[in-house]
Amino acid sequence: MPESLRDYTSLHIGGPAKKLLHAKSEEELVAAVRTTDEANEPLLIIGGGSNILVGDSGFDGTVVRVETKGISATVDACSGGMITVAAGEGWDDFVAWSLTQGFVGLETLSGIPGTIGASPIQNIGAYGHEVAEFIARVRTWDRKTNSYRTFSNSECEFEYRSSIFKKERDRYVIIDVTFQIEKGELGLPIKYEELAHALKVEIDQRALVDQVRSAVLSLRALKGMLLDSKDHDTWSAGSFFVNPIVSAEIAAMLPEDAPRWPQSSGKVKTSAAWLMERSGIRKGHCHEGAGVSSKHVLALVNNGNAKASDVIELARASRAAVREKFGITLEPEVQFVGLTLD
Ligand SMILES: Cc1cc2nc3c(=O)[nH]c(=O)nc-3n(C[C@H](O)[C@H](O)[C@H](O)COP(=O)(O)OP(=O)(O)OC[C@H]3O[C@@H](n4cnc5c(N)ncnc54)[C@H](O)[C@@H]3O)c2cc1C
Repeated sequence: MPESLRDYTSLHIGGPAKKLLHAKSEEELVAAVRTTDEANEPLLIIGGGSNILVGDSGFDGTVVRVETKGISATVDACSGGMITVAAGEGWDDFVAWSLTQGFVGLETLSGIPGTIGASPIQNIGAYGHEVAEFIARVRTWDRKTNSYRTFSNSECEFEYRSSIFKKERDRYVIIDVTFQIEKGELGLPIKYEELAHALKVEIDQRALVDQVRSAVLSLRALKGMLLDSKDHDTWSAGSFFVNPIVSAEIAAMLPEDAPRWPQSSGKVKTSAAWLMERSGIRKGHCHEGAGVSSKHVLALVNNGNAKASDVIELARASRAAVREKFGITLEPEVQFVGLTLD
């Protein structure tokens, strides 16, 4: 009996997988990938399923769920730690572990769902920091050359919500990630206004890491950005669209109160959520079984019995509304399996 992928995604959507393998060790993971590739079968690697929208017809090939475990740390009293973590470890479990071990740095990235292996792919980020700041190297299995390849931080080509692993999608299987993080009690300087306000500190001031983690988790819960199986507002894939980075000319044409974050390239990042709200998209709006989260306009959710096609139709309508109002085409953050938005 084929297993339904809905049970393996945070949107709780997705048809059956022809074959589903659970890779619990590096050997099992690489063997599953090699065997599937040698048989010329379609292959889908998944971790926590929190950044994918799988089509209603499922996946006609082999799905390998990365469930490898293990953390090894080399700690130096002066420089901190080099910590290598297996791809299948939970991201937030690792963040919590790092803080209890006296490391600082990852606190603003608390509560992001998913696995270690997926974290470099879209360079996960929140509340003013990105995982790229802490990654020393990423060890992968290269499906094109059938060999291991380790990437240094600069070779990962990290950008806002992107990396070489996203640009060359499906080529590299991430085996483990090595983080370089420091020891301490105070977290990194707070860069995000809303978090600074919650912590009652000024921008660029620091706070105790435990306080930062608690504040981040509380803010995320208010926005439905912490997984909770009982709350349909969290049956999402997080932000559905990335914040657009536009030319300075286009940014200048936006209304005065539009958020603008200048980039080193000379371009300007603006807020996808702001654009959607100003285009008439409302929190809580429903389309068939899908909807816009009642807590965060950027999260498209499954209200209980949504089909992938419901989510896609809602995403298309949201995108069209923003394009019509502002001439900006929102790009998805979510990875599609067996579907397209265009
Ligand atoms: C409620 C909610 C809140 C979120 N908040 C944030 C946020 O604040 N910031 C943020 O950046 N993201 C956020 N996300 C998105 C998501 O948590 C991240 O993208 C996360 O890294 C996905 O991890 P995953 O293991 O679930 O990946 P999956 O969804 O399983 O996979 C995502 C992609 O990575 C590939 N992949 C997964 N593992 C591997 C591997 N080992 N090797 C090669 N390819 C692999 C898959 O094929 C797929 O293309 C949120 C999601 C949800 C549901």
